Amino acid sequence: MTSAYGRKETAERGDPVDTLIETILSQNTSDINSHRAFKSLKGRYGSWSELIGNSPDEIADVIRSGGLAEVKAKRILGVLNLLDAERGKMDLEFLSDMPVKEAERWLTSIEGIGPKTAAIVLLFSFGMPTFPVDTHIFRVSRRLGLIAASVSREKAQKELGSLIPPHEYHNMHLNMIEHGRRLCRSRNPLCEECPISEYCLQSVKRSEPQS
Ligand code: SF4
Repeated sequence: MTSAYGRKETAERGDPVDTLIETILSQNTSDINSHRAFKSLKGRYGSWSELIGNSPDEIADVIRSGGLAEVKAKRILGVLNLLDAERGKMDLEFLSDMPVKEAERWLTSIEGIGPKTAAIVLLFSFGMPTFPVDTHIFRVSRRLGLIAASVSREKAQKELGSLIPPHEYHNMHLNMIEHGRRLCRSRNPLCEECPISEYCLQSVKRSEPQS
């Protein structure tokens, strides 16, 4: 996949609170919509601590373009209120002192933060060895036969994390998403153009003569 899409170098690490809030905003919507909502939130408030004390409805109005605004506003406020109460500041740097599993547990103990969101924060903001599985990676992995069709998204994250060498997590995560968006689409995958079709179970099934 790297030979088809290039090696994705590790970019500068983003602020962990920014990454967490951006990832919450990206749940169940497109990148364009979630980026717009994040920009709107950053433009409206000078700092994350300025959100504390606002009602979920006020926040929802600001992030409306990201979809599921009421739900996401509550999740964002949940994170910020927890940081305020537990740490007294809007900072997740303390996670870097924790073993990966403990950091995952801390993040996923917050309502609305699942294993994928936690893994994105830990991989992209801390460089920790976690492999986030989004909808594209889940689909591509099943079609390729890397995981069984019956495996849950959560289990897929563990299984793919064991299969892929940790130093490749960042590169593979981004390249599998690119592959899922460009060719291995949910509907009508472009298997004829696929550079890895020879390794794909789905491709074999599609080319089998129909009886
Ligand atoms: S051959 Fe088709 S189904 Fe298989 S990975 Fe490529 S695009 Fe996806």
